[in-house]
Amino acid sequence: MKIKFLGAAGTVTGSCYWLQGDNGGLVVDMGMFQGLNSRKLNMKTPEIDVEKLNGVVVTHAHLDHGGRLPLLIKMGYKGKVYMTAATRDLLELSLHDTVKISQEYNKDSLFGEEEVEQLLSQVELLEIGEEKILGEFKVRFLRAGHILGAVSVMVEAKGKSVVFSGDVGTGESPLILPPEPPEKADVVILESTYGDRLHEDEDEEKILREEIEKVSRNKGVLLIPVFSIQRSQRILHLLDHIQRQGGLPGGMKVYFDSPMAIEATKIFGKYRQYYSRELADQAKKDDPFNFPGLVVTRQAWEKKIIRKDKKAKIIVAGSGMMSGGRIMGHAKEYLPKPSTRLLIVGYQAKGTLGREIVDGERRVSIDGVRVEVNAKMRQIYSMSAHADQEQLLKWLSKIKGVKKVILTHGEDEPRRVLGEKVKTRFGLEVDKPILGEEIEYL
Ligand SMILES: [Zn+2]
Ligand SMILES: [Zn+2]
Repeated sequence: MKIKFLGAAGTVTGSCYWLQGDNGGLVVDMGMFQGLNSRKLNMKTPEIDVEKLNGVVVTHAHLDHGGRLPLLIKMGYKGKVYMTAATRDLLELSLHDTVKISQEYNKDSLFGEEEVEQLLSQVELLEIGEEKILGEFKVRFLRAGHILGAVSVMVEAKGKSVVFSGDVGTGESPLILPPEPPEKADVVILESTYGDRLHEDEDEEKILREEIEKVSRNKGVLLIPVFSIQRSQRILHLLDHIQRQGGLPGGMKVYFDSPMAIEATKIFGKYRQYYSRELADQAKKDDPFNFPGLVVTRQAWEKKIIRKDKKAKIIVAGSGMMSGGRIMGHAKEYLPKPSTRLLIVGYQAKGTLGREIVDGERRVSIDGVRVEVNAKMRQIYSMSAHADQEQLLKWLSKIKGVKKVILTHGEDEPRRVLGEKVKTRFGLEVDKPILGEEIEYL
């Protein structure tokens, strides 16, 4: 078996692996590159012989794993694309959104609606634990605990096995079940996003309560920028908790102002088989993402309703890094006010408004307008959907018979640090492939 690394090799984004056997092949993920040089990387058609593929498998719905899949259609791929039902629904949502955004900003897009529709028509559902024979390969999905419907992929051929970790969750998500590593594998392809880091141990509910109290006291606004998938549901669920325990001051409204996050929350409601125990129990009694005081604003004009509310309030809106979406209008309006509090709950990439503010910028530009930042900012670091160093090592430690570990999906430093840990703790051989490299493993 040969593996060609066509993404996430030296970077976090662009996940794409081409596994080649004697007569056929498999592709695992075809994600978008994001950040530095991403345009150039995305425009380059992946060097895959689609005629020889037995199938394409997708680990989860994040764009850095599925965002280039419609290119398969342009490349003439006519076969099946395997994923869980939750991944299909979430991916459908984000691929349509990608096309919409590229049309709005008039960027030359990688693909259009037509390719997205064609791709979705070639999707075949495969659920966790089910086995699928694809040519010489036997494929099985394992729970990855990262986002709703996310999996690791086990591939067996000729009595040998390789597991692609996909993105591995922390094992402590209040929303979904923990990851489930395979019992054994000869080769492990492991993500290394936080290979050099340990997550902070913080009480996110307590922080959120404190922020709510502060805006309640000075009739301010609590702004929470969120990613549509998973992070926004986590915030809603936390607010639901706080509300049920009487922590949301009477009359305070929570405006949920993100059409895509609203859709993603609906998809969450559909797939309870992935819920954590606690969430599943609660879902039997009531909707864990809905509570008195929550106002869902689907239409853009409803912004007026939010503005008119002069009492203390909470606005949850996308995008998560303040690089577009409805949060921008709210940022322009409320960041200059000293009574505003901004709660950052996710990673902020270089070049985004969120990052500028986190870095202490007090004067920013929003849609060409200079805006003073007088709002107070606070960050929660512990909501990551990615395992940290110890959690990755724990995942790996459960797998028997490993002969080689290949680290991907990480920047150089995290990957190097994790590689050293894997070598010293388990005495295993480690590979760190670069983009475009092809390695023969089994
Ligand atoms: Zn992911
Ligand atoms: Zn990823």
